[in-house]
Parts: sequence; structure tokens; C-alpha cells
Amino acid sequence: MKALKIQGQRQLVIEDMCRPDAGNGRILIRVHACGICGSDLHLWNDSEGFEGLVLGHEFAGTVEDPGSFGDDFRKGDPVTVIPLAPCGTCQACREGRYHVCRRSDGVGWGEDGAISHFYAADARWVRKLPKSLGLDEAALVEPAAVVLHGLLSADLKTDDRVLVAGAGPIGLLTAHIAKALGAGFVALSELNPVRIEGARVLGDADEVYRADEDDWKAPYGDPEGRGFDLFVDCTGAAPAINTGLDLIREEGKVLLLGVSLKPVPLDTMKILLREARIVGSANYTAEHFDRAIALAAARRIDLEKFISRRISLEEAQETFVSLDSGSTADVKVLIHLNGE
Ligand SMILES: [Zn+2]
Ligand SMILES: [Zn+2]
Repeated sequence: MKALKIQGQRQLVIEDMCRPDAGNGRILIRVHACGICGSDLHLWNDSEGFEGLVLGHEFAGTVEDPGSFGDDFRKGDPVTVIPLAPCGTCQACREGRYHVCRRSDGVGWGEDGAISHFYAADARWVRKLPKSLGLDEAALVEPAAVVLHGLLSADLKTDDRVLVAGAGPIGLLTAHIAKALGAGFVALSELNPVRIEGARVLGDADEVYRADEDDWKAPYGDPEGRGFDLFVDCTGAAPAINTGLDLIREEGKVLLLGVSLKPVPLDTMKILLREARIVGSANYTAEHFDRAIALAAARRIDLEKFISRRISLEEAQETFVSLDSGSTADVKVLIHLNGE
């Protein structure tokens, strides 16, 4: 079988590998599609220590061999996988809070991922899909679960006013899912003109603002105005987070979903004076992942509209280059395996 590996900085390679086996608590999955994530681009850009790693953690496929789980799974069952790989022994793991295990970076980061024809998944994390959910959409359940877990952790309330910074896939999903959960007003801010246009076309946000323009900020920042109840950062960038701190109301909340590999300087007086509540969010609980599946299957959220392209394994390298340039209108690109 073939798999997509990091070869070196900004370089991917397709390699022949042995097909893994079911057994040892694992179920063999024939991978249908796997999404390309911002974190994959991070690893590709900064590949030191990750050479030889198979990428991929947002995927769906069908059971090829259920191994010793034949009572619950049959060959051909459509499935997706919660891509956690917790250590199992730390304090968090012992309490069942696997998503915050700090000894693991997960599938496609700390251990080989699923951009390959077959993937042997830890049976505990395999989820059978409802009939109403297609395999392509199901590959987007993982990023949707990231967003859902964040919004639920931040205790989003009906009619809340929400500002989202960053209109990449996670920011766009945040606008969509916040609305589905009952947010009253959602604004998106973004620097990249191509992404601003893309966010307007998708149409979930009530307003889409240019992050580097100031006119729109004044009414929200004014103590007499209507600051946001919740600010969601999907950028990991200091200017965006400090702007968010300016625009939340007193006792407003800040949800951090954006990844930054370096420390970010924050104006902490803004947090103090507003009594802002800062919520970090990592991965998802299994419960929230299952809820993301249920929301998508019930059509309360629409994941299909975020799929902008389907490519083959051979097109991965050029697609990583184009996604990294920030000049494409792509939201989520799926790599289709097995020629399907
Ligand atoms: Zn991801
Ligand atoms: Zn652990």
C-alpha cells in the first residue's frame, strides 16, 4: 500500500509500506478520504524531527478487517476514527480525560497517521457512521469536533454575540457551528482578501470584517456599545487576540483554538479589568466527537459545503504548496485514497 510521508522541509513523498494488520486491539480500515489540516502544514513547514512520519488525522473509510471486534463491526461498515493516542498512564488519562494527555501528540503527529490506503485504528476510537453521513463529510467530523468541543467548553449560550478571528477552515467552521448552536450574531475578522471573499460566499457570519481596518471595531469596543460575549481566536496571533480582548464585553469570554508554536504576548490588563475568562481548548472528548457526528448526520451542521477540492495522493505535494501560499480559495481539501 502507499502512504504520504514527510520527507524533509516542505517535501512530501509517497512511499510503499507494508499493509498493517488488524489484531492487538486494532481494526483495519480502508481509508476513503483524509483532509489536509493547518497542523499538517505546520509539520510540513517545520519538519525537523518529523521526517518519515505519515500525515493525516481527519479521515473516514470502511472496515476492511474487524479483527477481534467482529461482534460490533463488519467488513464494509463506514467508520471514522477519533485520532487521539493518549499514553494511558498519566493523571489525565487515569481520569479518562484523554484529550488533555500531554504525553501524546496524537495520530498523524506523534505517531503515523492515515493518509495511506489502509490504517489500523485502535478499536476504542473507531466510530461507526450513521447512513445519512457520507464518507467525505465524515472526514470533516474531526475539525468540526475541535470547534464543537471549544464552543461547549466556553459555554456558548443562545443569542450570544460571537467574534471569530481567522477565516481558515477552523474559523469558518466556528462561525457555522456557533450559529447552529444558537448564537445570535456572529462576526468574522480576517486579513487575507481571498479568505474574506470565501467567508462571504459561505454566508454563515452576519458580518465579515477586514482585521486591519479600524472603523468596524469602535462600536464593539465602546463601553456604551455592545461588546461580544465570546471571542474565538483561530489565528494564534497576538494582534488578533489583543483585538479580541478589546472587543469583548465586561466578563466576556475568550476561547483559544488557534495554534501558535511560539509564546504570544498578551495585554493582560485587558483580561484583568474586564474579568475576562480565558478558555483553552485541545482536541475533543469522545462525547463531543460523537456529538459532532450526530449533528452532521441530523443535518444540523453542513460539512459538505466546506469541501472545496478532492485530490489524489499524487497531487498532495503541489496542493500543500498552494495551500501554504494562502492565495487559494480552498477551505478543506480532501485526499482521496484507493481511487474512490
Ligand atoms: Zn486537524
Ligand atoms: Zn496520558
